[in-house]
Amino acid sequence: MKKKILVTGGAGFIGSHLCKKLLELNNEVICMDNFFTGTKDNIAQLFDNPSFEVMRHDVVLPYSLEADEIYNLACPASPTHYQFDGVQTIKTSVMGAINALDMARRTRAKVLQTSTSEVYGDPAVHPQVESYWGNVNPIGVRSCYDEGKRCAETLFMDYHRMNNVRIKLIRIFNTYGPNMDPEDGRVVSNFIIQSLKGEDITIYGDGSQTRSFQYIDDLIDAMIKMMATSDSFTGPVNIGNPNEMSMVDLANLIIELTNSKSKIVFSDLPLDDPRKRKPDISLAKQALNWEPKVPVREGLLATIEYFKKII
Ligand code: NAD
Ligand code: UDP
Repeated sequence: MKKKILVTGGAGFIGSHLCKKLLELNNEVICMDNFFTGTKDNIAQLFDNPSFEVMRHDVVLPYSLEADEIYNLACPASPTHYQFDGVQTIKTSVMGAINALDMARRTRAKVLQTSTSEVYGDPAVHPQVESYWGNVNPIGVRSCYDEGKRCAETLFMDYHRMNNVRIKLIRIFNTYGPNMDPEDGRVVSNFIIQSLKGEDITIYGDGSQTRSFQYIDDLIDAMIKMMATSDSFTGPVNIGNPNEMSMVDLANLIIELTNSKSKIVFSDLPLDDPRKRKPDISLAKQALNWEPKVPVREGLLATIEYFKKII
């Protein structure tokens, strides 16, 4: 029997890759999305597949479905998008988690939450290990996202402790690849688009802040492995590529890979922008037998090809 799998936020960047992969693995997939940041274009190639269904629904509102597994991705993820309506963002994380967990409790489905490296805030421990509790501003412009995701983790753990809901928590670090929204303001999409158009590359701050970038295929591989591990492994587990780089280095690499004549310009650093970020992935290696495989140059070249087609 095919497994029936619900993917909330399935029309977004990560969700669209996940739906595609789950269908390739011969599952039935229900994609639930309110199309706030996701698009039909991202999933258009799946419409002809009889095992694929799309439901327009806001996860803030309760829903009732049957499924064997739930991947809970619904939530705007880029600072531009999640700050557009902070109240809706935190409702999406918190009510979205409660609604997914209520469904999991009722149907005995396994439920995976896409948490984030943002739960570590501007980290005082480097690289970040899962046991680190983080350094998050509760009242800043990023808080709707960071605190929403932290609260969702709490809800997952309490449903697990109180109701034996089968949960899986992953903390995703910066991920990039085809199907990223060109308008989302994230650094990889901005730099690639600016380079391809020959426009100035906008570095915020002095560009010494770091991130560690993971290619989408590696993340999807980890998500499927995490869902398949034994129920006793709930996480949270970091999923990312420890290949840390500064924003200046990223800009120069993208200029080189696109053969661009763009110049780098510097502007103000956004409020509460984390100074550094790098996952410790020892736990993922040991518990999931997983580590990222795609080198950043290779992943960026594939992403550049995608943006060449759509801009
Ligand atoms: P995305 O914005 O491309 O996708 C999010 C999807 O959720 C979109 O299709 C959007 O329309 C949908 N959505 C938003 N609010 C909704 C609501 N209330 N009801 C139903 N659908 C709703 O973002 P993404 O990069 O694909 O991120 C997916 C998940 O992974 C998010 O939960 C995000 O927090 C998490 N994550 C992503 C990254 C990353 O680097 N991309 C890093 C850490 C965590
Ligand atoms: N950033 C930048 N120029 C841009 C967009 C982002 O220098 O055009 C910086 C941003 O200030 C942050 C880093 O790049 O320090 C990563 O930003 P992004 O929004 O992609 O992810 P997040 O901050 O959520 O990790």
